[in-house]
Amino acid sequence: MIADSMVGLVKNSSVIREMFEEGNRLAKIYGAENVYDFSLGNPNVPAPEEVNKAIKEIVDTEDSVLLHGYMSNSGYEDVRNAIARSLNKRFDTHFNESNIVMTVGAAGGLNTIFKTILNPSDEVITFAPFFGEYRNYVSNYNGKLVVVSPDVTSFRPKFDEFEAKINKKTRAVIINNPNNPTGVVYSEDTIKKIADIMEKKQKELGTEIFLISDEPYRELVYDGVSVPYLTKYYDNTIVGYSYSKSLSLPGERIGYLVIPDEISDAEDMKVAASVATRILGFVNAPSLQQKVVAKCLDAKVNVEAYDKNRKALYEGLTKLGFECVKPEGAFYLWMKSPVENDTEFCNAAKKHNILMVPGSSFGGPGYVRLAYCVSYETIVNSLPHFAELAKEMGL
Ligand code: PLP
Repeated sequence: MIADSMVGLVKNSSVIREMFEEGNRLAKIYGAENVYDFSLGNPNVPAPEEVNKAIKEIVDTEDSVLLHGYMSNSGYEDVRNAIARSLNKRFDTHFNESNIVMTVGAAGGLNTIFKTILNPSDEVITFAPFFGEYRNYVSNYNGKLVVVSPDVTSFRPKFDEFEAKINKKTRAVIINNPNNPTGVVYSEDTIKKIADIMEKKQKELGTEIFLISDEPYRELVYDGVSVPYLTKYYDNTIVGYSYSKSLSLPGERIGYLVIPDEISDAEDMKVAASVATRILGFVNAPSLQQKVVAKCLDAKVNVEAYDKNRKALYEGLTKLGFECVKPEGAFYLWMKSPVENDTEFCNAAKKHNILMVPGSSFGGPGYVRLAYCVSYETIVNSLPHFAELAKEMGL
């Protein structure tokens, strides 16, 4: 029998997976080209060619025993140094290898940092709608996720509610910029406002409150939008980065944490994060992929392909009368459900072979998420089906 704590988790973790299964079922009946599956955030743009080139070069030239062996739990020192230098060049920061901990993707990094900082019943604040896995990552360490309700006009933080929710138990605030599921990018003004509130509350409460920046979509932005680098605005910041989306490597499980020297008890934090990596069972991030990303620090996926999809989907759906938030980053489109119940709307869409995820799974009821990391043809071919759906919804 599985653990009691897992019973609820298994039951609640299935919405996106169910969609995936549904997609497979529909594809068998109607053919894959006639199913418009916008449910999964799995990049469809290939990894840049530098990645395969780097893999070949590394396996051909590096000492095989060293390459496939254990290393420091934080990762190879030369890799961490290369990442630190690249960040310094791009964001005018002052990191070195000691500030970087290589992780098993963003998910591994977030679990590592929550293990490092959370005591039982500590609170972590996030802003709805949010990546649903945060709930699990926080509860893994017996913390409690506290959600600031969404501002449905801008999908930017409600500052008053945020400030009111910070209390003595608040240990961290996690933000995701660019955002999954809304595609919104928080501006420098928004970040400064968050930082000011946290600074004020730290002083008032006499506690340490960490700002965790979850940024796997940092490189996926459109129309020249810039994503502020958070360590510049607030000392107690930890950055969680991942190459899953920026290099289209989600299956390779590689990313890193940045723990700046300005953070409270920086040296203890660095050591603890390294130990957490080990004792959570990751031991270290995948060795080959560490070497690969170090060789691909300036490589980029074809963001233009996502941009083309973004424009086609946003313009196509708004023309049909659907209300959408114009995405500025990531590869998700956030659309208002024309009926109150977003699950009902997703079920209606399924009848037109369109798969989307109900906003409720992101703490954003009344909306749905469409992942447009699909082929351009899928988007173009889906629009007549969305037109039928719009008609059925009375738009
Ligand atoms: N954070 C956000 C906001 C995500 O959207 C995802 C994946 O979709 C993750 C973290 C996990 O990313 P990774 O595959 O790097 O673990």
